[in-house]
Amino acid sequence: MARIGVFVCWCGSNIASTVDVKAVAKAAASFPGVAHATDYKYMCSDPGQNLIRETIESEHLTGLVVAACSPRMHEPTFRRLALETGMNPYLVEMANIREHCSWVHEDKGEATAKAIETVRMLVEKVKRNSPLEEIRVPVTKKALVIGGGVAGIQAGLDIVTAGIPVIMVERSPSIGGHMAQLDETFPTLDCSQCILTPKMVELSQHRLVTLHTFSEIDEVSGFVGNFKVKIRKKARTVDHDKCTGCGICMEKCPAKVSSEFDRGLSDRKAIYVPFPQAIPNKPVIDRSSCIWFTKGRCGVCKKLCPAEAIDFEEKDVIVEEQVGAIVVATGYDLIDRGLYGEYGHGKIKDVIDGLQFERMLSASGPTGGKIVRPSDGATPKTVVFVQCVGSRDDSKGIPYCSRICCMYTAKHAMLYKHRVKDGKAYIFYIDVRAGGKGYEEFVKRAVDEDRVVYLRGRVSRIFEKNGTVFVKGSDTLSGQQVEIRADLVVLATAVTSSHGSRELAQRLRIGFDQYGFFTEAHPKLRPVETTTPGIYLAGACQAPKDIPDTVSQASAAASKVIGLLSSDELIREPLVARVDEKVCIACFMCESTCPYGAIEHVTWKDPETRKEKEVARVNPGICEGCGACLPVCRPKALDLMGFSDEQIYGEINALSDLVKVIHDE
Ligand code: FAD
Ligand code: SF4
Ligand code: SF4
Repeated sequence: MARIGVFVCWCGSNIASTVDVKAVAKAAASFPGVAHATDYKYMCSDPGQNLIRETIESEHLTGLVVAACSPRMHEPTFRRLALETGMNPYLVEMANIREHCSWVHEDKGEATAKAIETVRMLVEKVKRNSPLEEIRVPVTKKALVIGGGVAGIQAGLDIVTAGIPVIMVERSPSIGGHMAQLDETFPTLDCSQCILTPKMVELSQHRLVTLHTFSEIDEVSGFVGNFKVKIRKKARTVDHDKCTGCGICMEKCPAKVSSEFDRGLSDRKAIYVPFPQAIPNKPVIDRSSCIWFTKGRCGVCKKLCPAEAIDFEEKDVIVEEQVGAIVVATGYDLIDRGLYGEYGHGKIKDVIDGLQFERMLSASGPTGGKIVRPSDGATPKTVVFVQCVGSRDDSKGIPYCSRICCMYTAKHAMLYKHRVKDGKAYIFYIDVRAGGKGYEEFVKRAVDEDRVVYLRGRVSRIFEKNGTVFVKGSDTLSGQQVEIRADLVVLATAVTSSHGSRELAQRLRIGFDQYGFFTEAHPKLRPVETTTPGIYLAGACQAPKDIPDTVSQASAAASKVIGLLSSDELIREPLVARVDEKVCIACFMCESTCPYGAIEHVTWKDPETRKEKEVARVNPGICEGCGACLPVCRPKALDLMGFSDEQIYGEINALSDLVKVIHDE
């Protein structure tokens, strides 16, 4: 016989001012199966919890309904309390009479009637609840970090500090990401390489780090605590165990293509190391530009390599790893140059983008740190910087703000003025967004100390006439059209999601927005988690971010990983789907419906007939209890623990009693 206790909370005046809590408790006391019903000012407080604890014992209660706020808020509190008294926590339900009644009704009579019916439904549900046991899954104490930019490096370093091994997968031949391309960084103007390269070295030499560069994720399966990952190590065509890094091959290779790292401002060879401080500092062969692979001849590198490290026959290798958690840190790209034809980008030599300017500024860059006009190598005396190129522009499909351009443009103009003392710097802007610590002061410095001229307005056209570049735009503050003769134009082009991010998201089963940035589980409360347990986000793969925000998020993601992997097993709520093997007809409709890949094929032996058959099985470690599989199961072999058909019908039938009462009246 059920002996259910109903505890109605006032929530101070939050509930009690709109719901007659005493009337709710009185009505509940008369419901079949209710042994005790009472009200109290704050059920979640210490005296409130003591009241429940004592009543469970004195009244020998078998289940609880707490009529209070949202279960999101205090369900764990009351379930924990039940457990302390020896009651199974899944025999506790919450009737949400705050958000569903007092907060949405003004009429006390209506709110009270609704609260009574809500409690009636939950009492019927609790009567049908069965005790459930938490699911325990073992944990693999190893983490995978995808992307070796500053976000991935920081996350990796933080994770290994806790003694947890890290496997890093980086798509390009070296770790470092975009930060390795930068010169000085706002707002402190410290040298990017000087703060990044020691971290790159520390990570690569750490005994707990396995680095897979020139590699990508092929497949991810499994679930939180137990992911299985297939990593494709692309053929480098150079055996790094034999290679001594002498560089003869790169010197003698006759095939030249433009360097991605210098964004086309210099050339590299087909066999190359992307930049001098690269890690690993050994070359790979880009087969798309190698004469051996495109024309079947050459082989100079193989002939000259003293270590016999060149291997034209090398194939991609698939490495399998098991990890407990994953940090995604795949960063960003810049908008395709072709999208801004009206600004001459990619057509006019002296129109470049922000990253190209960074490479020019860099002492290890293609010009040795000298700012020059790409067309003739002369020092530009007038430089026009244009902000928001592509960003905040619906017509280019990018309505969002790229967040970093206002700041790096101020930095660029400032660094230009430091190096070309008699130069003139103009910045076209819509508005200046300088929200970070010390950022507003930084922009002010550019204007006050370095005499950078800010022009508020959009640029309509950039064109070349008789070898001279002109920038045409409006100055909305003076209301005039302006045309500036520029020696160099630097475009602050929009930040976009990294190419291939949608495909990676599908492989990882994490969400992404319409622009391809990965989505967090909750923008305020769970900003580094994804909706897939055990997978976290760090850096600009989630949205455009500067380095301070990237590093903060990377450390936050790392602390989540450390927290997750600090215990030997994971405890999960048992509210998952379950298959009745006897009823299952092995159609596997559920398998194609489950968004988490939780359905497995197993062989099952009927204990009565001893016959074997193939059936579906829900992996409780993966199942998120979303219930998507239930409606597609034609023979009704699937049920959701804690939300079984019997429980739901019990609630609905309780409600239809009310409908009958209204009808009868
Ligand atoms: P990234 O640097 O983009 O690194 C991502 C890494 O992941 C890359 O190595 C990439 O190859 C790898 N990757 C991508 N996809 C995959 C995949 N599928 N598998 C494996 N690996 C993958 N910020 C500042 O705070 N101060 C500045 O002065 C500043 N100046 C800037 C100037 C310019 C012109 C620009 C464009 C940006 C500037 N920034 C600055 C911003 C800074 O570049 C970013 O904040 C930072 O690089 C973000 O780091 P990240 O690791 O998230 O991404
Ligand atoms: Fe079995 Fe139902 Fe899944 Fe079909 S949909 S395989 S019957 S559980
Ligand atoms: Fe997959 Fe959702 Fe069914 Fe669980 S309840 S098996 S997550 S569809």
